[in-house]
Amino acid sequence: MPPSSALSFAPDLDLTRDALASSTLNHGLMVLGERWTMAVMMGAFTGVNRFDDWQNRLGIPRPTLANRLKTLVALGLMRQRVYQERPRRMAYHLTAEGMKLYPHVLMVWLWERRWGSRRSQLPDTLFHKACGHRFVPTLTCSACGDKVGINDLQLTLKPNARLLAQSTRAGRAARLASQGAASMGLGLRVDRWSLMIVTAVVLGCHYFDQLVHVLGIASSVLARRLSGMVEAGLLLAQPDTHDARRTVYRLTPASRDLFGYLVCFSTWAAREYLHQPSSIRPVHKTCGQPFTPQVACSHCGEAVKPWDVAMTPPPSAHP
Ligand SMILES: [Zn+2]
Ligand SMILES: [Zn+2]
Repeated sequence: MPPSSALSFAPDLDLTRDALASSTLNHGLMVLGERWTMAVMMGAFTGVNRFDDWQNRLGIPRPTLANRLKTLVALGLMRQRVYQERPRRMAYHLTAEGMKLYPHVLMVWLWERRWGSRRSQLPDTLFHKACGHRFVPTLTCSACGDKVGINDLQLTLKPNARLLAQSTRAGRAARLASQGAASMGLGLRVDRWSLMIVTAVVLGCHYFDQLVHVLGIASSVLARRLSGMVEAGLLLAQPDTHDARRTVYRLTPASRDLFGYLVCFSTWAAREYLHQPSSIRPVHKTCGQPFTPQVACSHCGEAVKPWDVAMTPPPSAHP
């Protein structure tokens, strides 16, 4: 018998396909999953607000940066402000709506720090001003306050008809976009499709034919992506113990760690952007409540707010 019980039941493939297509993760990634968009947001949270500073920090081509800032302003996540009249120069600031992506940004920081390839561009340490201590963002359940990991949640699937119809219309564009490397700013190794593939594996799809079915991408494209993910340490490919000709795909510690990121981003997309329930619904097993993530300070356990975080020790800091 395979060691994981996840392999001993067959997932309902049509249900999983519809749930993935109508997930708030998928729809959120369609707007914020383009290459550089999240990197620009991350920069804004670390205090960057001028065009040239983003460009120097991230090395984004100028037209791409201009385009991403325009998108973020159109989405209401950032606003422009003139900081110099002649020649006219604009600064970009996060709006109250943009600030709501903070839990997700903290999860990006955590993942990048452990597994990313661009560690140097992120602050090394975060300080919680409220308690004065150095902290690590910790995913907790907003209902009961307990710390939550991937195994503490029960996922149920309920496809969202409206989002499903939209994803069928958007299907062609999404497929075209998937041809390019679309980095989320989560290192160079994680893009929109990697996140969808990780989610499909979390939902119990461990074989190539299952993944083709639920993701709706061409098998040649999927094959390329899977081998890229294996190479990048995001998936393990092992021969099936029942049939050595078949390969079983499993999560690695790095891709398991994407879970906090996935759940925070899906929740943001459901509540703040799409105003639709997600088709993938987590319940916290311990308290039995629908799971809503909250990112807390590892030292004092309080929810972390954007204005409560410093990247350099506050004067009163306890190291
Ligand atoms: Zn709970
Ligand atoms: Zn604290």
